[in-house]
Amino acid sequence: MRVVIVGAGFGGIGAAIELQRHGFRDITILDHGPQLGGTWRDNSYPGAACDVPSHLYSFSFAQRRNWSRLCSPQEEILGYLTDVATQFGVDRLVVPDTRVASCDWDDARQVWRTTSEDGRSWESEAIVVATGQLHQPAYPTIEGADRFQGHRFHSARWDHDYDRRGKRVAVIGTGASAVQFVPEIAEQASRLFVFQRTGNWFLPRKNRAYPPLLRAIFQHVPGVQAFRRKFMFFYCESLTMMIRHPRSWGRLGHLRSAAFMRLQLRDPEVRRKVWPDYTFGCKRILFSSAFLPALQRPNVEVVTERITSLSDRGVVTSDGVEREVDCVIYGTGFKTNDFMFPMAINGTGGRALSDVWADGAHAHLGITVPGFPSMFVMYGPNTNTSGGSIIAYHEAQSAYIRQALEQVARRRAAAIEVRAEVEAASDAEVQRSFDGTAWTRCDSWYRTPDGRIVANWPHYMRDYFERTRELDPDEFEFLEPAA
Ligand code: NAP
Repeated sequence: MRVVIVGAGFGGIGAAIELQRHGFRDITILDHGPQLGGTWRDNSYPGAACDVPSHLYSFSFAQRRNWSRLCSPQEEILGYLTDVATQFGVDRLVVPDTRVASCDWDDARQVWRTTSEDGRSWESEAIVVATGQLHQPAYPTIEGADRFQGHRFHSARWDHDYDRRGKRVAVIGTGASAVQFVPEIAEQASRLFVFQRTGNWFLPRKNRAYPPLLRAIFQHVPGVQAFRRKFMFFYCESLTMMIRHPRSWGRLGHLRSAAFMRLQLRDPEVRRKVWPDYTFGCKRILFSSAFLPALQRPNVEVVTERITSLSDRGVVTSDGVEREVDCVIYGTGFKTNDFMFPMAINGTGGRALSDVWADGAHAHLGITVPGFPSMFVMYGPNTNTSGGSIIAYHEAQSAYIRQALEQVARRRAAAIEVRAEVEAASDAEVQRSFDGTAWTRCDSWYRTPDGRIVANWPHYMRDYFERTRELDPDEFEFLEPAA
């Protein structure tokens, strides 16, 4: 069976390893970038790190005992993923510099044809779309943006050639990416304006390098590494509990965060500006002990007035003030609702996935969609975690996909397709499960403009593992091979 995987990040590499370990030999991984790495290749902004501790943010089958710190920096994570891909021999399956334009199911021949923008194509019995939710930078529509004479770039397309020392810099956005690079920029820029639309809830993260003794303990004392991983897992589950139960457990999280922020925000003016006005956990909780202090530096100003335009010299806000800057950095996140689009995916009868998902993406367990035989999505709809490791989800999805393809092989079927009623019921259950949770209490990138939550899994990590552990063949139809 031939399998084409789109995306060589943690999802695509993890899926390839799982399939290869179970005897699938004809695997091709297509990626638009020059090398594997996904988000950890693309996001190289100063201070980039994962705020999920590495003992948990790593494959269960490739544990490391030599992480440099609690939350590893970008290069270390990229190095880890590259090493694991090499160790398992899937690095050589990656076809780089290949931007996929379309995947089309051929009803007559019962195969997928995947075509790249430059006209190459691949045929396969199954496709795994592992492009994730956070790969297409979102640029805000700001009047006059093209008029601006200074430099502009997005945090996920960092311009490392731009020397920001001594420059006047505007940062638009204060999400998880911006809180990591703002403290770095604040130290180097002569003036830094941080344009904030919404304040956030913070929890501490110092992230100093592990002292040698601790590293030696992780390395040599049996069980310590495994214990830490377990501990992190339950810590993350407790964050989810706070989000799921905003009136009870969520209040504890709120108090913890408010106490931390109160301690960090000595300047009453900055405190007033950045204090969030929504339920704890509704948007992503941010982990940083460096961001709020950076906002109180004398060379930094937090601007909460709405941006109305860019002039040729700077950023203009609704109060009519123009702040002159040399550079604008967009920390404005990603087109999360788009998932893999504009890539065209056409299933049985030529039906476009973009039509099926016109009112918001949905898939059974975030993985399978009726009408798209042997197409599997990784980190698909409703599989994002607000507290937890996405790699753990990837592993669950990889094993589920592998089971699906094993069923196809065992039954000598042409393909596997989830039953429409199964997908509809599981989608309804997922949507119902958001009732009463913090996720419903504000707008966020987890939601479509009409409020449907398409990014997040509403339950705990352990529930996802439970539901994906064993694929139930009764939930699927198996396509008979064409004559
Ligand atoms: P983000 O969380 O979506 O933040 C975007 C920021 O830009 C928000 O503050 C948003 O304000 C603001 N914004 C967006 N459009 C704007 C506009 N037109 N005008 C003014 N402000 C605008 O994006 P991100 O920081 O890149 O993070 C995205 C996700 O990536 C995170 O939630 C997380 O899942 C992941 N991430 C993870 C880590 C990690 O350490 N694990 C690090 C970075 C990113 P509003 O809040 O008002 O929308």
